[in-house]
Amino acid sequence: MKPYIIEKPALPKNFAERFLQIESGKGSYVYDKGGKEYLDFGSGIAVNALGYGREDLAKAAYDQMKKLIHVSNLYTTGPTVELAEKLVKTGNFTAVHFGNSGSEANEAALKYARLYAKMKKGPESVGFVSFSNGFHGRTMGALSVTATEKYKTPFSPLLSDCIILPFNDPDSLKTIKDPRLTAAIIVEVIQGEGGLVSLSEKMVKALNEFCAQYDIILIADEVQTGVGRTGSFYASDEAGLKADIITLAKPLAGGLPLSATLIPAKINDLLHPGDHGTTFGGGPVTSTVALSVLEKIQSDGFLNSVKEKGLFLDKELKKSLKSLDLQGDILGKGLLRGLKIPSLKPESMAALMNTCQDQGLLILRSGQNIIRIAPPLTISENELQKGVTILFKAIKEII
Ligand code: PLP
Repeated sequence: MKPYIIEKPALPKNFAERFLQIESGKGSYVYDKGGKEYLDFGSGIAVNALGYGREDLAKAAYDQMKKLIHVSNLYTTGPTVELAEKLVKTGNFTAVHFGNSGSEANEAALKYARLYAKMKKGPESVGFVSFSNGFHGRTMGALSVTATEKYKTPFSPLLSDCIILPFNDPDSLKTIKDPRLTAAIIVEVIQGEGGLVSLSEKMVKALNEFCAQYDIILIADEVQTGVGRTGSFYASDEAGLKADIITLAKPLAGGLPLSATLIPAKINDLLHPGDHGTTFGGGPVTSTVALSVLEKIQSDGFLNSVKEKGLFLDKELKKSLKSLDLQGDILGKGLLRGLKIPSLKPESMAALMNTCQDQGLLILRSGQNIIRIAPPLTISENELQKGVTILFKAIKEII
């Protein structure tokens, strides 16, 4: 069966002009409008952590929608308060700003960090530091700290006072002329869009020390890695990164738009009503669904199962590389994996993704030519094995 493709829908051309039109999903599979089945190794870009067709999430949302959908942030609701309480307990946090997307979570983080730095270190302490190949979102602030020039150039000028240093180069921190003028450093623990490279131990240590020395707010962008994707609740905890702020989004509400910017007391204590806001962020429906997601992800053995499945996937990928006699590296952690095959050229990636799609497998790309695998965290080992088999059959055809 051929994929059900829709051509030129009334969507902006910055996305694509041809789309696979997906109709439904169950477990680790989605089905297109023509009924063709796809094993999903992408989970809606690392969003659908608990898989598709979840009756529990649908019921939680439906029950809450019948009671109350929206109240604005002039008031609050039980689910919002309960979710905030659960999230602050995941680390050294006092409060959560809820939003609707990863970009918004980072936007809030940058604003809070700047407010803190200006009040604590002086009005000129406004700078942001980020890293090569980092991706933090498309809104103007988040884009300003994103590395990819082609995303930025059409919209410049963006924020000034932003510098981008080489990732995993601790010495580069020494090139910051006056660190006291830096408000925040924002970093991903594993670069989700930029090639699945992990922060090195040396870089973690250097960031921790540098930020402590100059009272710089360290922001861990865990929009893609957070809430269990790597087999730990936070990838930054596992890496030993002492983040002041953590940002979350993608899987937080099981596919509904919800983001969280977790802040410590030292920032919260400086805030006044009106400093920042949101209309929809942290509404009762998304919060209720997020509570269900957290219950599952924090249940006994769940994160361990993600770790184990990550190791299984790693083993299967290595086995397949060997059987095709291909050189390659496996990057990332848990169920956020990158497969880097030097002989797979960037210009072949679209063909590889299409071939996989034709064969009933959805995969993602990261960086230029890294195959990104981020399936639902609930995927089974059999499904992982099946996906790897389809993937390597396609790789064999393309290379
Ligand atoms: N930060 C990271 C690490 C991401 O991977 C993404 C999206 O891919 C974002 C921020 C932006 O999130 P959103 O597209 O929800 O604004």
